[in-house]
Formats: sequence, C-alpha cells, structure tokens
Amino acid sequence: MRKASTEPLTCSACGSDSVIQIDMTLPDGTEVVFNSCHVCEAKWWDKEGEPIEVDGIIDLVGE
Ligand SMILES: [Zn+2]
Repeated sequence: MRKASTEPLTCSACGSDSVIQIDMTLPDGTEVVFNSCHVCEAKWWDKEGEPIEVDGIIDLVGE
C-alpha cells in the first residue's frame, strides 16, 4: 500500500500519471483543483475530492 500525502493521480481517460494539479479558489470562495493530463490533454475539476461539472466552473469563473 502506498502512503502518500496526496493520492497518486492517474488520468481517467488514458491512465497516464502525467497529470498536473492546480489549486484554485473560485470567486465565491469554493476551493477546487484543476487537473490536466499531459498525454491526452483531458481536463477535469475536483471539489473536495469529488469530480465536478466543468460547465458549473465556467459559469463561476467566466466573465
Ligand atoms: Zn490522459
């Protein structure tokens, strides 16, 4: 078993572990994590460990 402070991240689309994470705070104070895969360019968002809809984020971040 691994004992890492952060869970190993793998892309749900291609299985690569070349995923970057960027912590962000939305204008309403919601803390989210932006994930992006270097291999297949999949992008997704997590909020408190749960995947969330990108459309919702765009509504919150977009101008
Ligand atoms: Zn990928």
